[in-house]
Amino acid sequence: MSTKDLFATRTSRMKASEIRELLKLLDQPGIISFAGGIPDPTLFPADEFAAAFQRALAPDSRALALQYSVSEGYLPLREWLVDHMRQIGVECGVENVLITSGSQQALDYLGKLYLSPGDTALVGWPTYLGALAAFNAYEPRFDRLHVNGNQGEPEYAAAAGEGAVKFAYLSPDFANPTGETVDLRGREDLLDLADDLNCAVIEDGAYQALRYNGEPIPPVLALELARKGSIEDCRTVYCGSFSKTLSPGLRVGWVVAAKPVISQLVLMKQAADLHSATINQMAVNDVARACFDTHIPKLRRVYGARRDTMLGALQRHMPDGVEWTRPEGGMFIWVTLPKGVNGADLLEKALETVKVAFVPGQAFFPDATGSNTIRLSFSNSDEDTIREGIRRLGDVLRA
Ligand code: PMP
Repeated sequence: MSTKDLFATRTSRMKASEIRELLKLLDQPGIISFAGGIPDPTLFPADEFAAAFQRALAPDSRALALQYSVSEGYLPLREWLVDHMRQIGVECGVENVLITSGSQQALDYLGKLYLSPGDTALVGWPTYLGALAAFNAYEPRFDRLHVNGNQGEPEYAAAAGEGAVKFAYLSPDFANPTGETVDLRGREDLLDLADDLNCAVIEDGAYQALRYNGEPIPPVLALELARKGSIEDCRTVYCGSFSKTLSPGLRVGWVVAAKPVISQLVLMKQAADLHSATINQMAVNDVARACFDTHIPKLRRVYGARRDTMLGALQRHMPDGVEWTRPEGGMFIWVTLPKGVNGADLLEKALETVKVAFVPGQAFFPDATGSNTIRLSFSNSDEDTIREGIRRLGDVLRA
């Protein structure tokens, strides 16, 4: 018997993330990386955090900051989130808010909450790789969810007789990896679909605050609330994150949902890690209250300009037959290469010859299709670097 024979069956579906493996290679000097979807660290409100941690560790609050705390999360932060959610159209109470260790933990818990082996999860094709990884551990089938308001009814491919559809997962604003936004009609259609299927909706709002142009569209949860009147009657579970706005390293995210969902997630949190780091929640609360509203416009300006620069450079340098999305926010542009051009091969060549990195798109498809796609991130490179990197990428593609 080998060590691995002892492992549970669910482990057979767990693969090393291509992105994580790739990020390890990117420490080499001189690489222009459009790979990781990570915030620019020079934009972290670092001084505000330094002051916030100092305050948390001051004599009158250190006992609280360094102590165990409740699984639901630090109350003042949950109160701030109630206010924040109201500003984006979601009326809820603190009892509807759970703090998680990043929204990634929420995705894991929601997989655990809804999925028995063989159940169906509807996801975008492509979709966020981390969501696929989180759900995968609960041994679901994945089916294709397609929502796009102007192109007719939402489609899903659930075959009759297969496992029950438990939820539809989507990131309606500036999705990872495509950068695309689901319009109002698409969100309403999705709610109709969820009612028809009697399934939950997992709304991933990781990039929600990062809109650079166009009018904000209410979250799916806000639209459902408008229909049903009370969050207790809503099937949508909203996952939020401070990772893209304040800091990913502190691992603070949140879930907003009806009370029975929150109660069950609290039990999971107790079993998994008791609570998210107390001092991190206190610091995020402090910084969010001090500067969230002034910090977001800064991020929008810088990232919006980088997006524009990357779109301009693609227009200039990509050969015919290459197509890409034009996101209104977020961190990503999704590029479709001519048929037959393989994104993974292109990466190998680009790294070797011009030192440019990105993520091959295949990993974002549950069935590993999409080999002629790549994801470019514009968030962590300055504008000159973006221009230079895209120029080099154009050269490789032409070669
Ligand atoms: N959802 C999406 C769509 C993401 O892109 C990410 C991070 N890349 C996450 C969730 C997880 O973020 P975190 O756990 O840092 O909140």
